[in-house]
Amino acid sequence: MILYDYRCRDGHNFEAGVASMSEPAPACPRCGSAADKRPSRVQIGNRASAGPSREQMPKSWNAVGRGDKETIRHWHDLAEKRENLEERYPELAGDRRPVLAHEGIFHDRPLRAGDDIGTAVSEALVADAASGSAHSHVGSRASATNQGSAA
Ligand SMILES: [Zn+2]
Repeated sequence: MILYDYRCRDGHNFEAGVASMSEPAPACPRCGSAADKRPSRVQIGNRASAGPSREQMPKSWNAVGRGDKETIRHWHDLAEKRENLEERYPELAGDRRPVLAHEGIFHDRPLRAGDDIGTAVSEALVADAASGSAHSHVGSRASATNQGSAA
């Protein structure tokens, strides 16, 4: 049994197992129309999508179709795949420590739980000073240029 990803003519994506590679593609389980094999999704390093990130996953009851079983299963599968991926590729998960502050000097580099506050503040101040002066400089020039070209 080989698992493949399929996509039907209506754009439904589904996974199905076939006995062999030459087996014809099964019909879409949702609408019954013909489907084509899709290249496997999980191929890090080969530019294939790693799936939606945690931020892109639905967090509310409405977002999962008010509990529609198929919708929930769909997201559950994606979340599970994402979790497996993050286990193998920790850099995908990013920094998941809670953010304590993300305003002012922490705008570009949020202060997170576990950070050494003294170090974080001085680093943020340095970065803020560097980018702040650069930003306002470039910003005022850019807006002047924009006005000029718009007029
Ligand atoms: Zn379909």
